[in-house]
Amino acid sequence: MKTIVKKINEQDMEPGCLREAATILKEEGLVAFPTETVYGLGGDALDFEAAKKIYAAKGRPSDNPLIVHIADVDSLEVLAKEVPEKAYILAKHFWPGPLTMIMKKSEVVPNGTTGGLDTVAIRMPNNKIALQLIRESGVYIAAPSANTSGRPSPTKAEHVVEDLSGKIDMILDGGPVGIGLESTILDLTGEIPTILRPGYITKEMLEEVIGPVTIDKAILSKNIDPNVKPKAPGMKYKHYAPKADLTIVEGPVNAVVREINALAKKQREQGKCVGIIATDETYAKYQADVVKTIGSREDEEQIARGLYGILRDFDELKVDVIYSEGFAESNLGQAIMNRLLKAAGYQVVEV
Ligand code: AMP
Ligand code: MG
Repeated sequence: MKTIVKKINEQDMEPGCLREAATILKEEGLVAFPTETVYGLGGDALDFEAAKKIYAAKGRPSDNPLIVHIADVDSLEVLAKEVPEKAYILAKHFWPGPLTMIMKKSEVVPNGTTGGLDTVAIRMPNNKIALQLIRESGVYIAAPSANTSGRPSPTKAEHVVEDLSGKIDMILDGGPVGIGLESTILDLTGEIPTILRPGYITKEMLEEVIGPVTIDKAILSKNIDPNVKPKAPGMKYKHYAPKADLTIVEGPVNAVVREINALAKKQREQGKCVGIIATDETYAKYQADVVKTIGSREDEEQIARGLYGILRDFDELKVDVIYSEGFAESNLGQAIMNRLLKAAGYQVVEV
């Protein structure tokens, strides 16, 4: 299959380009498009065949359900069996935006989209291209991240091309995304809303609007505990993984720099090619084959935006081993560390 790649400007969208993409979606095809979080791989959420194609293109396990993207709040009534009051309140505050809500699914949503679950994940993305594509196609768009399963999520169209060229119909290139980490997932089916995946919208932000919110225990643990099963099926997979062996070193910054340099030296003596994920503050202090800065420690948003791209860069550079500094887990830091820990397969050195 030849994949059409078209550049599109969010501020000045070419209608012909969107029409072409919308037609593909209406005819059971797949279109990758930008959202504010990461690029999504879109297909008709209510069409079993389209959902099957998404799983095939990504190589995604079929028990890992898809998020359905909508362009207006009224769509909740169609997709959910009952819409909790809190969903409307949250939608008012955070949509369009990086918050996915889980509700009981209605009859129209096929099991192929929900991985066999009786719940459905729904989000309204904050990106004009994504919203216009949903409206123009008249389709609710199931869209997981547009990467090969297990690779870091795509934060620019080039990443999608790397993973999915030849496997999908079209890629809309809207430039680099704004946030760079997947949406916060909030389960509204229980007594107390529960965060199943941390993201840009934090627990504190949610609690300000709807009161108490809990976090799924499996997310907080620093190692893979076979007895604690994550409630979002996707969170159990070793996701976001770079090809090299990644280890996170945590502790006071100076001690971290010393430890990473010592570890890097040992690896290089054994002939290994070593990469380091540094910050602006520490960049100059490292010795390794490749040192890359992810941005300033003071700027969590920059770190979030850069994380997946840096992991992909290291894949290209074919390093054997990567060491990364750890980050504070307040605010957006929780989502950053959640993704970094998964990428590292929970290999952490504390100093
Ligand atoms: P992705 O779109 O690739 O970022 O992944 C979607 C995430 O949402 C995965 O971790 C899924 O397991 C999770 N998810 C989607 N639908 C549901 C659902 N109905 N219940 C719980 N988690 C879900
Ligand atoms: Mg994904």
